[in-house]
Amino acid sequence: MSYKAVVFDLDYTLWPCWCDTHISTPLKLHKSKKNTVVDKYGYEVTLYEDVVPIFEYLRSKNIKIFTASRTASPPTAKKLIKLFNLEKYIDDSEWGWGSKKNHISKLAGRNDIDPSEMCLFDDEYRNKDVEEIGVKFCYLPNEKLTWSEFNKHINPSHEH
Ligand SMILES: [Mg+2]
Repeated sequence: MSYKAVVFDLDYTLWPCWCDTHISTPLKLHKSKKNTVVDKYGYEVTLYEDVVPIFEYLRSKNIKIFTASRTASPPTAKKLIKLFNLEKYIDDSEWGWGSKKNHISKLAGRNDIDPSEMCLFDDEYRNKDVEEIGVKFCYLPNEKLTWSEFNKHINPSHEH
């Protein structure tokens, strides 16, 4: 695979909710369900099962892992990432309002990686505008990162 960094959206890419609207803090880990967080009202959010193995795979290939999110509540996203124990995989993040072109431009500048050496996995088609700055857009039509989607976009046979 030819990318130096893979950028991931958060909501409906790594987990099945909008962390700024569906979740109320404080959050805590579920006592028995794996990779599940419970919010103030008992609402449960489980990390998609292929996320950690995919992050492990990218780590093993020395490919950087970034996140880019339009979330209106970065503190909630941060807390989820911490509880899901994803901090150790994520090299850098850029969150907040506006186009992901801006998010990724900042990530590119800070990490000295050209946008053309990155791809973005995202469930929202509007974020395809990152292609205008050279990022490959990997659309997740089923609102979920899976190995099958990952391999479809990042396939060794497509290497050049
Ligand atoms: Mg999303």
